[in-house]
Amino acid sequence: MRPVEKFGCPQVNGSNKVYKQHSLARGDLENNLGYYCSYCEVFSSDLEVEHVISRHQDSALKCSWDNFLLACGRCNGRDNKASKAVDMNATHFPHRNNTFLSFTYQEGGYVSVNPLLEGASAIAAETMLNLVGLDKFPGNIKYAKHNANDTRWNHRRVAWELAVKYLPDFESGRLNAEDIVSFARQRGFFSVWYAVYHQHRAVRELLIQSFPGTATSCFDAVNCSPVPRNPKNTEDPV
Ligand SMILES: [Zn+2]
Repeated sequence: MRPVEKFGCPQVNGSNKVYKQHSLARGDLENNLGYYCSYCEVFSSDLEVEHVISRHQDSALKCSWDNFLLACGRCNGRDNKASKAVDMNATHFPHRNNTFLSFTYQEGGYVSVNPLLEGASAIAAETMLNLVGLDKFPGNIKYAKHNANDTRWNHRRVAWELAVKYLPDFESGRLNAEDIVSFARQRGFFSVWYAVYHQHRAVRELLIQSFPGTATSCFDAVNCSPVPRNPKNTEDPV
């Protein structure tokens, strides 16, 4: 899950912009974060303004910029995030943690909790995984039944296959890092492209630079490898 850096609240005449409806923040959020779901990473022109803490949990945060992210209808839907209460301090979020370290992306686009995590970090990553159902795919025995309308897994699988298809052309020099990242930006799935091209620093660097709002502090400046975002938090440095 791509870690992102939220801007401060947009300003109007020196004051925080007031959103009469949360949906009116969409353009400002797209300027900040690009046209990508904050959770499943799909590219979409039809994203929703998502309440990190739901309106049911705290109605005072209904129109608060700091409580907004962008999400697709499936991640934000009733069978995933919408109806659940959130404990911010026990859940990895892409604007607070280095969520690239929270999960592992594998062939086929499968997502799971990073097996290197321990203790509170592993639990907080798992809580996010369950919150948006990132591991929902047909045949996952963790879930009684797969909702056929939930095609996120398949979009991620297709992105993985495309990334793999272009890899030999990149390694032979027929395609360059700009080409690969332009394909990635059209589809989304930052983490899939990063995983497939993890051995190629030029692609890693350009992915981090080119996806709007990526939290550059979550990646080492020399190697462009992920680093913990909260190193002073000994319980959960992720
Ligand atoms: Zn999504």
